[in-house]
Amino acid sequence: MLPKWHVLFGFIFSLIIYFFFNISLINFSLIFLSSFLIDVDHYIWYIQKKKDFSLRKAYKFLKNLKERKLTLMIFHTIEFLLVLLFISFYYSIFKYIFIGMIFHSVLDIIDLYSKNEIKLREFSLFKYLLTKDKSKYF
Ligand SMILES: [Zn+2]
Repeated sequence: MLPKWHVLFGFIFSLIIYFFFNISLINFSLIFLSSFLIDVDHYIWYIQKKKDFSLRKAYKFLKNLKERKLTLMIFHTIEFLLVLLFISFYYSIFKYIFIGMIFHSVLDIIDLYSKNEIKLREFSLFKYLLTKDKSKYF
């Protein structure tokens, strides 16, 4: 899903949470920002793979990625989200970041599923680390 859609849906979602759960503007902002900034891992992935820091090139590359291989986006893994959930029990600021990231992840899953690309995303860091043959990964 393109960042602009994550920003739009993230804003609408954050507004709904803001009005229905009477959260502060700071917590509204945390949900909103985390609902699209989670995709920073795509940029990190691009830098690691291409050894290039151009955000514009990264955007173009990822938008036109037609490679039929698995990709691992670290902030989109179950393990990362579980650690975030765990931390959120101790520091409430992470609760709002977690909510934004979960909302984003649900949108990603719906989007990937609708484009028949769900098999191209690795959701488990452990599975990735335990896989000896990394050739199926980009
Ligand atoms: Zn995403």
